[in-house]
Amino acid sequence: MKQMKKRLMAIFLLSAMILALLTGCSYHTCDFCGEKKMCDERSILGTSIYICSDCKKELNDWGY
Ligand SMILES: [Zn+2]
Repeated sequence: MKQMKKRLMAIFLLSAMILALLTGCSYHTCDFCGEKKMCDERSILGTSIYICSDCKKELNDWGY
């Protein structure tokens, strides 16, 4: 039963990846505000994060 769950998870992740490829990899959930918007992918400390234009503007205001 546990194996089954793992397999379903793998299928789910795979379809999510395919969907991301089809949508052009730019429509993501923003890691800052949690809203699904057009996001930029940023690589920070080896992990990729997504940031929408609104949050990016806010960070720019802070001088980031
Ligand atoms: Zn945001």
